[in-house]
Amino acid sequence: MPKRIAIIPGDGIGPEVIGVAERVLAKVVHSFRAPLVWTRFDWGAEKYLREGVTLPEGAIEMLRRDYDAILIGALGDPRVPSNQHAADILLGIRFGLDLFVNQRPVKLLDARLCPLKSVTEKDVDFVVFRENTEGAYAGVGGNFKRDTPDEIAVQEDVNTRKGVERILVHAFEFAVQHGRKKVCMSDKSNAMPYGHGLWQRAFSDVRKRYPQIEARHLYVDTLAMEIIRNPSQFEVIVTCNLFGDILSDLAAALLGGLGAAPSANLNPGRVSMFEPVHGSAPGIAGKNQANPMAAILTTGMMLENLGFPEASSRIETVVREAIHQNVATADFGGTLATREVGDWICERLEEDIC
Ligand code: ATP
Repeated sequence: MPKRIAIIPGDGIGPEVIGVAERVLAKVVHSFRAPLVWTRFDWGAEKYLREGVTLPEGAIEMLRRDYDAILIGALGDPRVPSNQHAADILLGIRFGLDLFVNQRPVKLLDARLCPLKSVTEKDVDFVVFRENTEGAYAGVGGNFKRDTPDEIAVQEDVNTRKGVERILVHAFEFAVQHGRKKVCMSDKSNAMPYGHGLWQRAFSDVRKRYPQIEARHLYVDTLAMEIIRNPSQFEVIVTCNLFGDILSDLAAALLGGLGAAPSANLNPGRVSMFEPVHGSAPGIAGKNQANPMAAILTTGMMLENLGFPEASSRIETVVREAIHQNVATADFGGTLATREVGDWICERLEEDIC
């Protein structure tokens, strides 16, 4: 049975970078004899503006039943200021499929892209695991006396024992399976003793099951400072939804920006969703200027998850070679267009007939 992929190119630069990712997939099918089939879905701003439809009815069941993975470009369009369609589609899939793991690898591919001085490629190679379904982004709260001088706004931070424990266990399991020796859990339990006290207690239990892993805790403010001061001390970081969101963008800056930052939303063993960290970047959309490397590396993460680790590591090697040879878009100091970078990478993958 081939692996079935649902592709949602989305808005802005999404279709441009996903166009390159699809060509990469075609090369992988050819060069690695990987049995992959994919279907495109036109979910995004255009459809929303035309038909008023965001996530079509029955979409979650269809994805769960008919697909092994979802590859998404980006969602967000200035014509939809509320971003309603993006919230419905992205959060709808994330919650509907219970994708509780957000995995963001932070791997420096070329030292010249890192804004820190005297940092080499081997100094920046860690993975951030962000809890993806609860915390401050659970959407629990409300406004009282809205738009009056007495307004009260409440945004709850939701932490469940089950939700916290499963992301902690996932981080430790990843460390064990990928030869990583250190896991750092980050919270703000000194200032948020109830919600993050739960993280502390769950961490204290889970770490005992993994005596071979060096488990460490840092408050999030200290962690942010330490990531910049000495990124080489980290291998696996695990944290809540809000802190993970912020830290993984901070970490993406160590790689040279959003142009090469991939991510995955996982429910291990079930259909999962893969998306570049960047948004729809409306300012450069339609100009053939977007860096396709994040989408290509995201495709690599998806392939690894689908059981094609060789194709995934080959993709990473080729992207690394492209950056080393300045085969890159302007954000990485190059002069090439999106499609030209894609052409070069696809040609290199074509040479790998297995
Ligand atoms: P969102 O709210 O969806 O995250 P945003 O505009 O705040 O949208 P991005 O779309 O990620 O965030 O863009 C942030 C900046 O990074 C913009 O200046 C954008 O042009 C740039 N950028 C993002 N992705 C890329 C890319 N793939 N190639 C080049 N530049 C990019």
